[in-house]
Amino acid sequence: MTETIVVTIRSGPDRPTAEGKVEIITWSAKERSRRAMRALGICWGIGLFCVILPIIHFFAVPGLFVAGIVMFMKLSAEESLLLGGEGACPECRKTFRIAKAAHRFPMDELCEHCKTSVSISKA
Ligand SMILES: [Zn+2]
Repeated sequence: MTETIVVTIRSGPDRPTAEGKVEIITWSAKERSRRAMRALGICWGIGLFCVILPIIHFFAVPGLFVAGIVMFMKLSAEESLLLGGEGACPECRKTFRIAKAAHRFPMDELCEHCKTSVSISKA
């Protein structure tokens, strides 16, 4: 499920604020385990294929085996993700892009126009 939320953007404690919008995706427990299983399947699938490749298999097979488990644990714990969005810069007033990141507020972002570091929090 994705939802768009309004965020407040500020560059400092006593600076004017601006508004922005970000998209958040939330996964149910069932979707989380499906996503995690798929990542595990992909990693182990590629790992299994690498068994037939000389030399590469020494690194790729154990590497992908571990990567699959790491991905599985990461994805099963990940309940939501900030897909990104855009907002107005409180300094230069131009619209800048908010990158995909962990769903955790407040988050820091850099205005791509004036390079001001801004703090983004839930409105
Ligand atoms: Zn700016």
